Amino acid sequence: GAVEAAYEVRITPLDGTVLLVFRDLTEAQAGASQRRDFVANVSHELKTPLTAIAGFIETLQGPARDDPAARGRFLAMMAQEVARMDRLVSDLLSLSRLEGQARRRPTDRLDLAALASEAAGLLRPGAEAEGVRIALDLPEAAPVQGDRDQLMQVLSNLIENAVKYGARPGRVTLTLQPVAREPVLRARAWRLEVADDGPGIAPEHVPRLTERFYRVDTGRSRAQGGTGLGLSIVKHIVNRHRGRLRIESAPGEGTRVSVILPAA
Ligand code: ADP
Repeated sequence: GAVEAAYEVRITPLDGTVLLVFRDLTEAQAGASQRRDFVANVSHELKTPLTAIAGFIETLQGPARDDPAARGRFLAMMAQEVARMDRLVSDLLSLSRLEGQARRRPTDRLDLAALASEAAGLLRPGAEAEGVRIALDLPEAAPVQGDRDQLMQVLSNLIENAVKYGARPGRVTLTLQPVAREPVLRARAWRLEVADDGPGIAPEHVPRLTERFYRVDTGRSRAQGGTGLGLSIVKHIVNRHRGRLRIESAPGEGTRVSVILPAA
């Protein structure tokens, strides 16, 4: 919800004059309101699969009780809803862990090129089953300082999104290039790009995609098993690595997500 400016005013008599103390509470209240929105969103996201499961149980106890084929179908749908809740809870735990780690920069020396090729290898069979090719353009090595699991999560979230929301048949390109002097980081860096040839995203949505639970098309995201938290997790991980995240997209021109990480 929107928060207007909020102030606390204290009036204290002092030696025949009056002391007025103003305290700006706007930010604290905005924080509280964001937390309330977040709890409401999480509750809603958990309630959706629970309602579906409750409905399936009712059907299994009633109309589908003596129909083995229907029973199998409903159990499969219940398993799907349970898997969705499991993903949601895992994503929420990742986010909460990341918030606690925000100030601690990871220090392990890693090769981003090797991670990118590993992530692509893991996701390729699933993508190809959907008619999507994953093409790689990677250097021999790309040393960075980072957290292996978290960078793998960035790679898989971005590749999975490109496959999910890209064209059918389609092509996802993963490129990694050196940047001699990144202007904002003022240092040598690596630019990792995941690009798809999907329908793209209308400009008004692009700046909001990293907000928790923000989706362009909720039905589509849910149908694809999305939690609405993937890009928010990516943003947290990139920030923790002192990197930058950029999303470029235009309707009809596909989407390109770049992650820029300081070189080690
Ligand atoms: P989700 O679990 O819904 O995929 P994300 O946080 O990963 O959540 O992404 C948020 C939303 O951004 C998605 O629901 C989708 O609408 C949009 N999106 C993300 N990646 C792409 C892409 N490559 N092409 C088009 N839309 C995308």
